Amino acid sequence: MQKVSSQQGLKFINQQKILNLIYNESPISRVELAERTFLTQQTVTNIVNRLMEDDLVMERKSTAGSRGRRPVPLVINSGKMFAVGVEVAVKYVSAKLIDFSGNVINRSKYEVDVFKEGEETLACIQNAVNKILKSIPKKSELKGIGVSIQGLVDSKQGIVMNSPGLAWKDFPLVEKLKETFDFPIYIENDVNLLAIIENQKGSLMNSENNLVLKFDHGIGGSIINNKQLYVGSSHVAGEFGHIKAFSGSEAYKCHCGAMGCLTTLASNSGLIKNIEVTLEEFTSRVREGGEEETKLLETITNAIGVALGNVVTFMNPDEILLTGKVIELLGDIVVPQLEEIVHTNVPESCRNIKLHHINKPLDESILAGKLVIKKYFDVPLEILSLK
Ligand SMILES: [Zn+2]
Repeated sequence: MQKVSSQQGLKFINQQKILNLIYNESPISRVELAERTFLTQQTVTNIVNRLMEDDLVMERKSTAGSRGRRPVPLVINSGKMFAVGVEVAVKYVSAKLIDFSGNVINRSKYEVDVFKEGEETLACIQNAVNKILKSIPKKSELKGIGVSIQGLVDSKQGIVMNSPGLAWKDFPLVEKLKETFDFPIYIENDVNLLAIIENQKGSLMNSENNLVLKFDHGIGGSIINNKQLYVGSSHVAGEFGHIKAFSGSEAYKCHCGAMGCLTTLASNSGLIKNIEVTLEEFTSRVREGGEEETKLLETITNAIGVALGNVVTFMNPDEILLTGKVIELLGDIVVPQLEEIVHTNVPESCRNIKLHHINKPLDESILAGKLVIKKYFDVPLEILSLK
């Protein structure tokens, strides 16, 4: 974060507090803003005037009450603010331009067989973003670019630590993108991103402590503790796929070097490597009543259930959100069984845990755009810290 004087910092924080309240609780009046922020009426009026001049906030027509005019409600001018969201997946880059109400204004997509070099993946993002930037009337109306990435991401430093599918290792993605785009740029791991957005205004809105687990080509996990993302000391917290879950003849060697990790069978890549079947093929054989596959699915479900039970006992979350292709294709069979296993395996004191799942994957490029919107309204507490 750039250095600012304490007065500038305070001014910025007050403005962000006002913006944040208008975004989250609009329509809201100037009087209510003053009450909620403990700022004087005059300070609120000055800030609101500035925000209106910049086209960030607008007045909505006030409704006449029984006793004269009611205070004028303020709302975000969301049709004049835009964000770009990018999803970088193993076989494509998809970019969307959205306004701050979440409407998609423009989109572009680049497909590839395989990303061979990190610079090639970067060029794909640059092309996809450049293509849709043309639809923005004024450059100043674009508030940032968000990027969703499958892999280990240090979002604070803007570095992709490891993403074999995207050919990135310790890749300074934010720095590289800043060479082309003069906008705030945010990057986040795909599962963390889903957790952040679902916790803000989605299905996990009313949960304080929760886990988001994605069973897909690999397995990813995210931990939310008191509404904050917990990333651990080296950004690898939530690696649910490497929990030891299989033993004996079912313990296959994992790409991490260990044996019997959950991901060796409970993900698409695990099934391909160890059973030589894709998730889609495996699903149809289960649906056709294949004995071997049904038995294997039971083993996998049981392993996930026991692992979930252990994590719930250890962390005491209030909700778990399951997502990814495995859940999408087999959720109707797997999720009810998981609920039963988890509720049987955890101590009575943890049994209030709620398990739910997403049947259809959410669009990650839109989630990445929503990350920009969230960041735009965040009140930056680090500006106050001594570091
Ligand atoms: Zn492993």
